[in-house]
Amino acid sequence: MPSTPSLLAQVKHAFPHLSFHEGSDFHWDYATQTIVYPSVLGDGQWSAQLLHEIAHAELQHQSYNRDIELIGKERDAWEYAHSHLAPRFNTSIDNQSIKSAMDSYRDWLHARSTCPNCEATGLETKKHLYVCPACRHEWRVNEARLCGLQRYTIK
Ligand SMILES: [Zn+2]
Ligand SMILES: [Zn+2]
Repeated sequence: MPSTPSLLAQVKHAFPHLSFHEGSDFHWDYATQTIVYPSVLGDGQWSAQLLHEIAHAELQHQSYNRDIELIGKERDAWEYAHSHLAPRFNTSIDNQSIKSAMDSYRDWLHARSTCPNCEATGLETKKHLYVCPACRHEWRVNEARLCGLQRYTIK
């Protein structure tokens, strides 16, 4: 059996001020101070992602105003999970997992910021509004939750 259930028990014990709920995907909800995790157990990626969500909690990450801020928060959460949380819970997060997660965020940002009209890179001038510096086209993007893109990309 994987050690995942015991890691969950450990983190619940170590962070009694946080709520933990099973849900469809991993995410951190600042408003309710809740970590949501999927039930699928098994590989090291699950443990790494759980610690990553706790890092968001420990860093008290809230929603973001610009897409680029999301990238920064994700990076900070991975660094904190890697350097502080994994050693504390006697586990490790391999650099390749972090790199693939960060690559997925960058791909996501690239897709959002590419002008649908001329494919230049747009600027996010207001929350969820991009403007193309080349052709002046404007487009809106959807709200994205921290970590919500993970499910597409972790292999
Ligand atoms: Zn354009
Ligand atoms: Zn995250």
